[in-house]
Amino acid sequence: MIIKPKIIGGVCLTAHPIGMRKALEEQIKYVREAGKFPMPRRVLVLGGSTGYGLATRISAAFGGGAGTLNISFERGPTERKPASPGWYNNKYFDEAARKEGLTAESLNADAFAHETRLTVIDKIRELFGQVDLVVYSLASPVRKDPDSGETYKSVLKPLGKAYTAKSVDFVRGTVGEVSIEAATAEEEAGTVKVMGGEDWTLWINALLEADVLAGGTKSVAYSYIGPEITYAVYRAGTIGSAKENLEKSAGALNSMLKSIEGEAFISVNKALVTRASSVIPVVPLYISLLYKIMKEKGIHEGCVEQMYRMLRTRIYGPNGTLKDDNGLIHMDDWEMRRDVQDLIGARWNKIDNKNLGSLADIEGFREDFMRLHGFDWPGVDYDADVDPMG
Ligand code: NAD
Repeated sequence: MIIKPKIIGGVCLTAHPIGMRKALEEQIKYVREAGKFPMPRRVLVLGGSTGYGLATRISAAFGGGAGTLNISFERGPTERKPASPGWYNNKYFDEAARKEGLTAESLNADAFAHETRLTVIDKIRELFGQVDLVVYSLASPVRKDPDSGETYKSVLKPLGKAYTAKSVDFVRGTVGEVSIEAATAEEEAGTVKVMGGEDWTLWINALLEADVLAGGTKSVAYSYIGPEITYAVYRAGTIGSAKENLEKSAGALNSMLKSIEGEAFISVNKALVTRASSVIPVVPLYISLLYKIMKEKGIHEGCVEQMYRMLRTRIYGPNGTLKDDNGLIHMDDWEMRRDVQDLIGARWNKIDNKNLGSLADIEGFREDFMRLHGFDWPGVDYDADVDPMG
């Protein structure tokens, strides 16, 4: 079949298998060139099919020489419909890692379900006996509570009062304004249920109880703080409440893991184009300005550069895990630099349809978005017939 991008409301409904292979190969290539580094060799990634989870998996495998077990929830292909991007990533990653002699398995299952935890525990015993690193990188709009059976939704809304700000339609390349109603208390609580620390805690509890965490196991989950510009809709919004909850649960998990001399912590990552971040209001315009400035200053990173640097220098660096006083690893260190943020602030006030192309890297945003769905890769013939099975 011929596969073209189909984008509705910041969501791309299709993915191109040949372009997806390119996207994965590019990330592996980066890690190979960046070089090997020492780290433990048995890694569980929850949410390792796309974005930050996939980048962590690639860095651990091709940089750290680790075997990886990944749990993600992806749509497989049919004869008439391509799979979701993560489905191809899992297939191609497992093939590439096994070719390298590394253990690599991907389970397609709902990570929020207790039965998935049981399957994963069996799989860990079969593949590794125990794991040394648990990466928690889930991003989901819904979660079914595994005990009550109730389904909760996460929403991206401000708290307290409605919020109006500049925003960009990155497909059309136009600047406009977006107004978002304040969340209800129920919506805020739902978002915390989905994206907060409850599920991560259930995972670590279950893994500890089953004795599949090796002595010294580390567990990391990802968060975002960001600047003033995105504050109302991100950190002071529903998702910010969920992230605060996630960060608090790191403290409790850290105490729990002391029994095996392990630790749990949060890495605060850079704002980047992923399937999850593209649908957050205001954020695409902020990311486009950020890309432009970080590229100008020579400090731009994508997911794989971030996660490689995190594993090599922050989690398994020569001086152990590097955290601030609140137990956070800061991979947003370059994004939050004063010179970067001052420039974003100045450009944010000026940005409009006329200067979008010169003040912001809207093309870079659009290209990253297309490429993570396998489109816009040079050398791929998008008019050619392709097997959706990959
Ligand atoms: P993503 O959408 O690329 O990845 C989400 C992953 O979760 C995928 O592997 C998906 O399959 C998996 N998943 C979703 N629901 C699942 C379920 N029920 N069962 C199993 N797997 C499921 O998102 P991302 O942007 O890489 O986000 C990962 C984490 O990083 C999130 O906590 C996010 O808040 C955080 N983060 C993202 C950014 C950013 O700018 N993208 C910045 C800082 C922190």
